[in-house]
Formats: sequence, structure tokens, C-alpha cells
Amino acid sequence: MSKTKYIFVTGGVSSSLGKGIIAASLAKLLQAQKYRVTIQKFDPYLNVDPGTLNPYEHGECFVTDDGAETDLDLGHYERFLNVRTSQANNVTTGRVYQSVIEKERRGEFLGKTVQVIPHITNEIKRRMMLLGESGEYDIIITEIGGTVGDIESLPYIESVRQMIWELGEENAMVIHLTLIPYLSAAGELKTKPTQHSVKTLMESGVKANVLVCRTEHPISDDIKRKLALFCNVKQGAVIESIDAKTIYDVPLLMQEEGLDKVVLEQLNLPAPGTADLDRWKAFLYKFKNPKQTIRIGLVGKYVELQDSYKSILEAVSHAGAINETKVEIHSIHSEYLTIENVTEKLTGLDGVIVAPGFGERGIQGKIEAIRYVRENNIPFLGICLGMQMAVIEYARNVLKLDTANSTEMDANCADPVISIMEDQKTIVDKGGTMRLGAWKCTLKAGSLVHAVYGDTEIEERHRHRYEFNDAYKKAIEDAGLVASGINPETGLVEVVENPNHPWFVGVQYHPEYKSTVLDPHPLFINFVEAAQGYFRSK
Ligand code: GLN
Repeated sequence: MSKTKYIFVTGGVSSSLGKGIIAASLAKLLQAQKYRVTIQKFDPYLNVDPGTLNPYEHGECFVTDDGAETDLDLGHYERFLNVRTSQANNVTTGRVYQSVIEKERRGEFLGKTVQVIPHITNEIKRRMMLLGESGEYDIIITEIGGTVGDIESLPYIESVRQMIWELGEENAMVIHLTLIPYLSAAGELKTKPTQHSVKTLMESGVKANVLVCRTEHPISDDIKRKLALFCNVKQGAVIESIDAKTIYDVPLLMQEEGLDKVVLEQLNLPAPGTADLDRWKAFLYKFKNPKQTIRIGLVGKYVELQDSYKSILEAVSHAGAINETKVEIHSIHSEYLTIENVTEKLTGLDGVIVAPGFGERGIQGKIEAIRYVRENNIPFLGICLGMQMAVIEYARNVLKLDTANSTEMDANCADPVISIMEDQKTIVDKGGTMRLGAWKCTLKAGSLVHAVYGDTEIEERHRHRYEFNDAYKKAIEDAGLVASGINPETGLVEVVENPNHPWFVGVQYHPEYKSTVLDPHPLFINFVEAAQGYFRSK
């Protein structure tokens, strides 16, 4: 019998109910009960990884230490649990089919007809159990993307059915997240959509053990009893999940509803006592009781969809909480930012972040924003493309290299201050061709970033193709923009800063991926402090 226990989280009735947050909250509660927990996400789409997905469609692409381009829910998992995830924590249908097809091409199926059942489902099950084999975890929570009843979810639901059959209900269970809509005309909460979605699950042979019900209004005991009876779950296994003010409230709300208790009962695991959530509660207290409010501008081209910059927004709110400051984010669309309106759009801000991105659209707006904050001593943090644009802005406006650009925007530009690395020039595929994952960086002794990190050796995650061009390093440094972080293996510039400015830092990496509730990122903490300083000096 398997020692690791498995919890599957499925979704019904509607998408966007927040399965990721529920899974992360449950994991947090189990972790607080001293269980070793991890979460993985199985996504039913055909992309091999989310790296090629447009942020407008799927939100941000999260990057792990081992360089996996993953669903943004893995960001929530890391932020809630304070543990690192990896490639194995995110699987897509595309990846599953890719492995099965590669195996077929190698002749490993020995002439058998290769089919969805059993070959695809076996590959799904193998991957579902992969993290459990290490012996590192007591409990593995698997979030199944999509909504029950979708054609593309079927192989996953069938795999879950088989795993429960193989491992037994004490070792593998299902939490079904569903929606209880409120009909204002009738003044009632409606349970029928949930009954139907549980039935759809049942048609595939899978019984929900726990129902987590998203709702805008409290669910009465009568409705809970009705749901339990018609959906065939135990009385205490209907959990209300009412809309929360912040996602960080959800673990505590789930604890009040007893989600961890029913889950441990179902898995026949002891609950050692009251979960230890003191540090989490201390964070929430500060988050909810700020002593002041500052305004940070986020300049990017995907600002219409907040999920595109999820990790940045979360990292800023962690840093705000630790500084007992409410940080109001003002999204500024880089495409509509011009030399004429930049003053008007950026006035009143206490700090500006220029966001990561790809392609030419909106870059002139980013450059205008950077010039404005540089000239007006407003704290600035440039991330990835934001750092590259800071280099271009400096080269153009201070060094007077009018033709400075990135070869991403103009392949033949006269002064490619940002350009592609030699060994990447021959690559044509878009997927998985970037510098990805954790890379070491050595910070210059005495620099601002050295003081911020309190260390000269750091490691941060990357996701980009283009780099600071070494050929321009001396000229740019001589003009005052210092390369204060260098990759010790490749010599590539990872950080630039401006010592003649109160707080001006550009980083080629993505610090936002490593900020968690219990370990907010030093760069964001310090940036918020600088913005507080600017706010006070006004
Ligand atoms: N487009 C830039 C590059 O590929 C920056 C990428 C990013 O901001 N993540 O280098």
C-alpha cells in the first residue's frame, strides 16, 4: 500500500472558481498540521507548457527554479506553502501526449495499438504519482484544470478513478469545487447546478468526498444538509467558501469550516492539534492594518488582465504588508504612454515598476516612463524587459546613442545595446528556447543591491532570450549606469543601477517569482521602503 496520500481537486459548474487558491489553502492547513505537502497541477490543454500562451488568455507564466514554464497557480502554491515547485508539479495534455508519442516512435509499445485508455491514462497516472515516489511528501494535492464534463478532462477523471480504485478511498480522495449561484429574483441560493456536476463526475465513476461551495452568500445548515444528501457526501463534508477580501484569508476561512479536519478524517490521518498559523496571521494583521498608503505605477502592455502580472502584484503586497503600508497599484498601459502625457500619467506616484514583456508594442511608452522617473528621482524597479528598456533609455538619452535598441525590436539596429546571445541565434522553435530558471549572480560589493540582499552571492529565476550587450558595458558604465550584478559563469549583466539616483534598479531576472507570504523578497521590500521615503519627502 502506498504511504503517500493523494487528494484530487476537481472543478464543477463554472471555470475561475479558484481551485488553485483552495488547493493552496488546504495544503497550507495540512502543512500547519506538520504534514509534508506539495501541490501539482494537471492542465487539459494541448500546449506542451504554458510558455507559449498569450498572457491575455492564461495570465502570467510562472517559472520554477528548475526552469519549468508553468501555470500561474504554481505561484500561489509557492507563495502559500513557502516550498519550491518544479517541472514535475505542472503537467499538460500536450506533455502527456508528447511522451506517449515519442515512446511510440521509439517502438516501445512493441506493435500494440496505442490508445487513450490505457496508454494516455497510464502516462497521466505515472506523472500523478511521480512526486510521491520520492518519499518526500505525506500528502500530494493534485489540481485538475478545467471543469468536469469537458471532453478534454475525461482522461484525467478516468485516471483519478483508477487511482482511487488502486489505492483505496483512505489513500486517495476527491474534493469537488463548485458554485452555488444566488438568484436575486427568487432570493435563493441554488444547489441544482452542483447536483448535476457531481452527477457528471459520478457518470465517470468518481465520487466526490468533499464539496467546497463557492458562494456570495452564507450557506445555511439546511442547504448544506440538502447538498450532502443529494450529492452523496458526509454531513460535515459540505464546506462553504464565501468570497474573501483577500486570497490570504482563505486558509483561515477553510479552517473555520473544518476542511482540514474532514480531509484528515477521510484519509484516516491524525490531526496532531491546532494548526500553527501564527506567522500567517501576523502577516494578515499587518496586511489589513496599514499605517499609510503609497501609490506605485505598474507600466506594462498587458495591464487589462491583472493575472498577467500576478507574481509582481503579490510580491508588492507582501512587501507592503511587512512595511505596514498599503500599496495602491496604478496600472499604466505602456502603449498609450507618450512624451506628451507622461508627466500627467505619472504625477502622484511614489514609485514605478516597468514590467516584463515581449515584442515591440508599448516599448516607447516604457522608455518615456523610465526617462521621467530617472529625471525626477522617483524610485524605479525595471524587471526583465523593464531592465532592458532602462539600458536603452540610458544609452539614448544620456549617452546620446540615438540608435540604441534591442535586436528583439530591430534586428538590424546600429547600436544593439540589448541583443541575443550567440548560442541562441540558430534556434527557431519558440517553446523552451529561453534562458530559464535559477541562475547565480554576483553582486558588486558596496552597491545598492548588495545592501538590499545583504549578500553578494544570490540566485534568481530568469525567462528571456535577450541580454545586455557586453560591447556597450564600458561606455554605459562610464556614463553612470553601473552593472552591479554579474552572472559568475557567463559574465552576463544581470543587474544595473544608477548611483546618482535615490533608487533606480533594473534586473534581468524575475525577483517576483521568489516572494512568498512568509519570506517577502528583499528587492520589493526595499523598493517599497524607497517609495515610502519618496512619499514622505513630497
Ligand atoms: N523580451 C525580452 C527577452 O526575451 C524580455 C523578456 C521578459 O521580460 N520576460 O529578453
